[in-house]
Amino acid sequence: MAEFDLIKQYFTFEYDFDQNLKGNIDAEQASSKSSKNTAKPRVVKGVGDDCAVFDIPNNYQLVTSTDTLVDGVHFFSKLPPELIAHKALAANVSDLAAMGAKPLAFTLSISLPEINEHWLASFSKGLQKVSKLFKIPLVGGDTTQGPLNINITAYGVVKKGRLLERNQAVSGDDIWVTGYLGEAAAALELEKKALGSRNNLTDAEQVLWSALTQPIPPLKFARKLTKLSCCGLDISDGLAADLGHVLSQSQCGAKIFVESLPLSDALVNSVGIDQARQYAVNGGDDYELCFTALSNVRNKVLNLAEQCGVNVTRIGKIIGSGLELTLYGQPFQSSRSSWQHFN
Ligand code: ADP
Ligand code: MG
Repeated sequence: MAEFDLIKQYFTFEYDFDQNLKGNIDAEQASSKSSKNTAKPRVVKGVGDDCAVFDIPNNYQLVTSTDTLVDGVHFFSKLPPELIAHKALAANVSDLAAMGAKPLAFTLSISLPEINEHWLASFSKGLQKVSKLFKIPLVGGDTTQGPLNINITAYGVVKKGRLLERNQAVSGDDIWVTGYLGEAAAALELEKKALGSRNNLTDAEQVLWSALTQPIPPLKFARKLTKLSCCGLDISDGLAADLGHVLSQSQCGAKIFVESLPLSDALVNSVGIDQARQYAVNGGDDYELCFTALSNVRNKVLNLAEQCGVNVTRIGKIIGSGLELTLYGQPFQSSRSSWQHFN
């Protein structure tokens, strides 16, 4: 199979959502449409030409984020390719969500040691599934031979003035998180201990495993949240570490009430409450959102979360400086010291 057949077969997807992806639109027609202020950002050209082309009306901003996954560093190549694809694209979608952006498109640069059609079919299936789930079309990329390496660049749009940023927290704000924390970190430990024997997972372990391999970032909630908040980020390196970025960029501190962190039954039943809290504070790969908001929008935040089918929990407060983690009023003993770096 030659390079271009490969691209056609595995990386050219049909979409039926609101984007022009055929790539044949007349350029004049495209630019006349985009000159109206009511025009929406869209893809004008996808896979097939030297570049993909977007229309971005001038009341929007384009946001972009890129991630590279290297075999053995970010994933084990023994992992089903479908799951590698899911995680790779979901991690990028999570970054778009973290800015409050709507997905526009993504590109994929992939380097493969060989053409393994079985591997490619599975990878393509996983990629297509997430692509359609989040309505983010694949519009181009690069395919080369070499050690397995996957790079995805995602593009999104926000209306001007509607970003979620890391530098906008203010003393007195509530701190919130979406979903449940710590599940992915627990699954990673499990994976390290019992590599390759995923066949007899308990129901609880299955939940943890799904959190690790098939995260679903709260995209819709994040976009709507931009009406209530302007400060947030996604939790990918662990709550304490990521919150640390907000604190240093906003030049403020935080109090976190560890007893209020959202822990799933699956996590607590698998590892016990103490270890669950450690994972929730320090574990990575959650792909949930941490955001701050004024205390007078609490009910609005809760209502929005309910509308979007997302779990949200208030876990602390922004204060003047420092990072204080307490468990029922006592200092919380973290088993990992990295978060102290942000103290
Ligand atoms: P060029 O040589 O002009 O850089 P290529 O020959 O590498 O273009 O690619 C041909 C077309 O296929 C381009 O539109 C490119 O974006 C697309 N493409 C290449 N690899 C991939 C991929 N892995 N996924 C999606 N599109 C791809
Ligand atoms: Mg070219």
